[in-house]
Amino acid sequence: MKIAIDAGHGRDGDPGAVNLELLLSEAQAVSVLRELIKEKLVPDFQVFFPDRELLSSQRAREAQENECQVLLSLHLNAGPQGARGCEIWYRTGSEGGKELALSLQGFLSELPLKMRGIKSDDQWFPPSDPGWKGGMGILREFPGPAVVIELLFISDPEEARLLLNPKFLENASLAIVKGLRKFFSLNLPFWDVSSGEVKDALVRLAKMGLIKGYPDGTFHPEKPLTRGEAAILFMRLVNYIQEEGRR
Ligand SMILES: [Zn+2]
Repeated sequence: MKIAIDAGHGRDGDPGAVNLELLLSEAQAVSVLRELIKEKLVPDFQVFFPDRELLSSQRAREAQENECQVLLSLHLNAGPQGARGCEIWYRTGSEGGKELALSLQGFLSELPLKMRGIKSDDQWFPPSDPGWKGGMGILREFPGPAVVIELLFISDPEEARLLLNPKFLENASLAIVKGLRKFFSLNLPFWDVSSGEVKDALVRLAKMGLIKGYPDGTFHPEKPLTRGEAAILFMRLVNYIQEEGRR
């Protein structure tokens, strides 16, 4: 399972949104955040960082070429005075993107941030072109589940200060990782097993109720079976056969 984490901006030294008072840039802050996220995903997941020197639509295609199943693009917002909070964007019509956004929102809402909700990208208009109807390039050019997280408003003095707090960054990265793990466990059972004979067997046995895997959606096919677990498996199998017999 491979996840692309795009840190937005950075191309030609583009700092993204900037808070001049705190001398903080969006490009800088999201770089720190994505390293923290990567640390928590490896080795269960492979993590790919798209090249910051590419345009956003090219970064999406690069992630696809590198066989990433999911893409996250990390950003910070800027807006008029009083604008604050966290919002998550997904590609209009993408069921997977919407589910990923909802799963992330569930954990990000535990942070001390106002939740502005999840948003479909046909509602997005770049400041340079208010008539734009093309959605977000980074979402439109990636076929799988993809989201843009605008974690907070770097233009808001109070929210920007959170970026200087290591505890907040730790909790924010943890929330994103939990959201990803939950998304994988709900949508891709046994995501730590690649497709093949074992995977087919697991999916079938799970449908029959004979095996469950771990709550985080993993199976750990390399782990040995204990005598206790073997007993439970036999019991489930006996029950299954008896119930089938009654039908
Ligand atoms: Zn941005």
